[in-house]
Amino acid sequence: MINEERLLNEFIELVSIPCPSKGEKEEAELIMAKLRELGLEPHMDTANEKTGGNCGNVWAYVEGNVPNAPKLLFEAHMDSVAPTTGTKVVRKDGVLYSDGTTTLGGDDKVGVASMLEAVRALKESGVPHGDVQLLFTISEEIGCLGVVNLDKSWIKADYGYCMDIGGTPGEITYAAPKLYDIYVTVKGKSAHAGIAPEEGINAIMLASAALAKIPVYGRVDAETTMNIGLFNAGIGTNIVCPEAKFVIDMRSLNVPRLEALKDSTMALIKETVEAGGGQVEFEVVEGCPAVELSKDHPCIELAKKSAEKLGFKVELKTTGGCSDGNYLCGYGLPCGLLATGMSNVHTTEEYLKEEDLYNTARWVYETIVTAAE
Ligand SMILES: [Zn+2]
Repeated sequence: MINEERLLNEFIELVSIPCPSKGEKEEAELIMAKLRELGLEPHMDTANEKTGGNCGNVWAYVEGNVPNAPKLLFEAHMDSVAPTTGTKVVRKDGVLYSDGTTTLGGDDKVGVASMLEAVRALKESGVPHGDVQLLFTISEEIGCLGVVNLDKSWIKADYGYCMDIGGTPGEITYAAPKLYDIYVTVKGKSAHAGIAPEEGINAIMLASAALAKIPVYGRVDAETTMNIGLFNAGIGTNIVCPEAKFVIDMRSLNVPRLEALKDSTMALIKETVEAGGGQVEFEVVEGCPAVELSKDHPCIELAKKSAEKLGFKVELKTTGGCSDGNYLCGYGLPCGLLATGMSNVHTTEEYLKEEDLYNTARWVYETIVTAAE
C-alpha cells in the first residue's frame, strides 16, 4: 500500500534539490541511492555526452515473478524549469505550493516520487508482478534531450507510461502530435533603397506575401495546429532587404494530414517567392514523433482498468503538447500519458494537490499489479 506520509516527505525532499536542465546530477544521485535502498541496481547512461549535461538518464529494472505479464516502463523527467533553486514547499489546505519565489517542481517530481513509492509498496506487499522498468530522464524541459539521446536498445518493455502531464489521475492521454519545425529562408537582392530600389528584390515583402497566402493558421483543424513564432529580417532602413527568415511550428495528431500540410505549405511559399523573383530554402526539422495509440490499445486499456479499480473517473484524451512520451513511441514503445495533477506548471504559482500525488502513486502501483493478473 502507498504510504502517504512517506511519499509526501520524499516528494518534498526531491523538489528541495536544485535540478535545472543539464544540472540534474545531485537529483540523479539521490534517486539512484533511493533505488539501491529498494534493492535495485540502477544504471546511469551517457546521454549527457551528447547533451552537455552533468549526468545521464537513470534506469532501473524491477524483476518480476509473473513471466507472462506484459513488461511495463514508467518514465518521468528529473529536471525542472527555472526558477528552481531553493524550493521551499508550503502546505496549505491539502495543496502543495512553493513559497512563490520558485516553481514547485511537481513537474515532474510527482512522476519521480510516485514511481519510487509504487515500487517501494510493491516490494513491501510481496504481491506478484511482471517486469517493470523505471526511466528518469534529463533535460526534458529543453527539448526532451535525455530521451532523444538515449540508447533505445536499453528499453525492455511492452508498454510505457509517461508520468508527465497535468489533469486529475484517471485521465489518460492516448494521442499527441507529430511536430515539424520548418526553417524558411527567403532570398531577395539588396540595393540602395533610395538610389536604386528597382535593382533590389525585397525579401521581407516576398516572405510577407507568401505568409499572407497561407489559407489557415493557428488552429488548422481539430487535430492540427500551425504557428509562425519567429520572423527575422533586415539590415538597415536604407537597404532593400536581401534575406528574411521565419520558422513554422506545425503539428498534428493525424500524421498523413501533417505531411500533406507540410508539402502544400512549402509549395505555396516557393511559388509565391519565386513569382516575385526571389528564392527560397527550407530546412525541415522533425521535432518529435506522434503518440498514436487507439483508445482500446492494450497499453491504454491497462491504465484504464487499473484507474477504474481505484475508483478514479476515467477520461481518454488527446493533447497538442509534446513530451518524452512522443519519443518513446517513436522508438517503438507504445506509450500512454497518465495525468499526475501537476498544475500551473512552468510558473511560480505551480501547485499540486496532495491527493493527486497519492493517487498518482496508487495508479502506478495498481497498473503494475493489474498487468500481472
Ligand atoms: Zn514535465
